[in-house]
Amino acid sequence: MDEEKIKKAVRLFLEGIGENPEREGIKDTPLRVARMCKEIFGGNKEKAKLALTTLKEEKHDEIILLKDIPLYSLCEHHLLPFLGKAHIAYIPRGGRVTGLSKLARVVDILSKKIQVQERLTTQIADVINEVLQPRGVMVIIEAEHLCMSMRGIKKPGATTVTSVVRGIFRENPATRAEAMSLIQSARKP
Ligand SMILES: [Zn+2]
Repeated sequence: MDEEKIKKAVRLFLEGIGENPEREGIKDTPLRVARMCKEIFGGNKEKAKLALTTLKEEKHDEIILLKDIPLYSLCEHHLLPFLGKAHIAYIPRGGRVTGLSKLARVVDILSKKIQVQERLTTQIADVINEVLQPRGVMVIIEAEHLCMSMRGIKKPGATTVTSVVRGIFRENPATRAEAMSLIQSARKP
C-alpha cells in the first residue's frame, strides 16, 4: 500500500471539498487516513483461505451454523461503510470442519477491501467451498449501507439482504429450510 499516495490524495480531497488542509483539526487527517487504510484494506481471498484451517472430525454430517457474525466493509461505489451481520451454514463432507472463529475470520478478511455486498457474499461461500469442500454451504448477509442511509434515497435502517446457496442447500429445499429456521430462531425482535 502506498502511504504517500493516500496522504496526497486525502489532502487534495480536503481541498476539493473546500476545506483548508492546514487547519489545526485536520492537518494530520491525511496521515491518519493512510494508516487506517493499511488496517481496513488489507484483505484478499488468499489470506482468507489460509485463515480457514481444517480439522478432521469423525462422522459429523449435520448443519454447522455460525450466525450474527459482525461485518464492516466499504462500498466501492461511494467509499462509505456498509455494516451488518453474516450468517454461515455448512454441512461437512468427509469430516472436514473448521473452528467457528475461523469462519468469522474469513468474513473479516474478505470485508477488508472495497466491496459490493453481493460479491462479498459470493467470495465467502467460494472460500468455504474451496477449502472445506462441504456437501453444502449457505451464506447470508444483512447490511445497512450508509450510502443509502446518508444520501440518495435516504432510508436509514433499511437492510439489504444477499444470499448464496450452494450444494445440498440448493438441491434440497428441506435442508435449506432447516438452515433458515436455525438462522431465524432465537433472533431478538
Ligand atoms: Zn454505495
